[in-house]
Amino acid sequence: MSAPASAPHKAFDTILTLDFGSQYTHLITRRLRELNVFSEMLPCTTKIADLDFKPKGIILSGGPYSVYEEGSPHVDPAVFDLNVPILGICYGMQELAYRIDPKNVIAGTHREYGHAVLKAQKVDGHVDRLFQGIEDSMRVWMSHGDKLGALPEGFHTVATSDNSEYAAIAHSEKSIYGLQFHPEVTHSENGLKLLENFAIGICACKQNWTMAAFLEEEVARIRALVGEKGQVLGAVSGGVDSTVAAKLMKEAIGDRFWAVLVDNGVMRLNEAARVHETLTKHLGINLTVVDASKEFLDGLKGIEEPEKKRKFIGGKFIDIFEAEAEKIEKAAAGSDRAGKIEFFLQGTLYPDVIESLSFKGPSATIKTHHNVGGLPERMQNGAGLKLIEPLRSLYKDEVRELGRALGIAEELVMRHPFPGPGIAVRILGEVTPEKVEIARQADDIFISEIRKAGLYDSISQAYAAVDPSRAVGVMGDKRVYGFIVVLRAVTTTDFMTAEAFNFPWEFLQRVMNRIVNEVHGVCRVVYDITSKPPGTIELE
Ligand code: GLN
Repeated sequence: MSAPASAPHKAFDTILTLDFGSQYTHLITRRLRELNVFSEMLPCTTKIADLDFKPKGIILSGGPYSVYEEGSPHVDPAVFDLNVPILGICYGMQELAYRIDPKNVIAGTHREYGHAVLKAQKVDGHVDRLFQGIEDSMRVWMSHGDKLGALPEGFHTVATSDNSEYAAIAHSEKSIYGLQFHPEVTHSENGLKLLENFAIGICACKQNWTMAAFLEEEVARIRALVGEKGQVLGAVSGGVDSTVAAKLMKEAIGDRFWAVLVDNGVMRLNEAARVHETLTKHLGINLTVVDASKEFLDGLKGIEEPEKKRKFIGGKFIDIFEAEAEKIEKAAAGSDRAGKIEFFLQGTLYPDVIESLSFKGPSATIKTHHNVGGLPERMQNGAGLKLIEPLRSLYKDEVRELGRALGIAEELVMRHPFPGPGIAVRILGEVTPEKVEIARQADDIFISEIRKAGLYDSISQAYAAVDPSRAVGVMGDKRVYGFIVVLRAVTTTDFMTAEAFNFPWEFLQRVMNRIVNEVHGVCRVVYDITSKPPGTIELE
């Protein structure tokens, strides 16, 4: 059972984005939030009667289907009874036109993919309010094969392009709009302005979606949910998400939130001590550190396959966490804080939620409710813990902003992601204490040089790994036979594709020098320049 989800739509003016499966849909919600307007995405099959809030406006996204094809998705007609402004984008516009008369939408003679120049039409010297403040001509991004063959009844044209007579249309009486292009992609000039005109000018949304406001709402919600005595348990890793979630719980319920850090022996250099210091001293969080490094390293002996390593680490983590949870349960029950541990904190973010909500096609079953990963099943069913997911409506940049609002240091808030199985996946093949030490030392040198050079925030993820094949070197006139350290640093916006970071040559030389001199057992350093695809960001 999941606890009631964090639901900003109850407290903030919300634009509902109905997803028809476009790869750009999440950009619509992101852009609106940049404007400080809350937007939530739900599948296009959502029944309006099932909504527990009234949106201030609705956007129908693009999608890969053709509206006139059998089995293609259609919106619940009840959206039109809500009497709120509606904006259809590409498939969304075709859907609006098709509903009025199926003959309105036809297959185009050629696909239009790329830039088009849009001209807003003027009536009595004025452009439509959707285009207010926008030059009367702008470059926009198109991606479609179908088009409107005729203007739907009740609509008029508000903008045209060379290829689209109906590039933007508006209903003459109601606030219903359609766009053939995609204002949500950054290639569309003034796209953000156009969404602003819709959300603020037309839907009259308040621009009050800020992390300071969310923090206040969420603290109140958690207090109400957990009650006067309830207690919450959660795992922390030292990463951005778990730290922000933990600090939020601390603000809401103080020491009735119990954080657990499991030291699995494959954390970075001095990381466990650093996390302990930050969470307890700086953030005042009630934290227990379990040093299980020996158990993990013993268990990793002889395992070479990446999948097996991951499985082992994941499984062992659950065993140790559960054992610790039991101890905490007892301590919690005996403490003056009283109450039973009823909830488990999880740092799920919005992209994971969106991923499971997005419309995957008429034949795919849509999961409308789910728990994203994480909570060990035994704990959920056996111990009956309920999930509490305060970050579940937030994008990563919003989590960082929330971290700032909670007073978490900038250096922590901007930390690169770190894999769950830790540096075990940064040691190719078998993990041994010796290789862990090498990876730790080399990584520490690499990252501290990156910070010193002021490059940390320009890089999305960076680390040093160990290739256990040995290479020959000459050190102090002696032939040595040492490990190879692989440096990796990438830039990416979404972690789906990535490029190797272009370091100055002198920088790489400095890092190489320090590593071969300071890290015992290493005689070669290489820089991995592979992009993703075909490479992945981590080595295993
Ligand atoms: N599949 C529709 C078309 O090709 C809509 C495309 C879209 O929404 N981007 O016209």
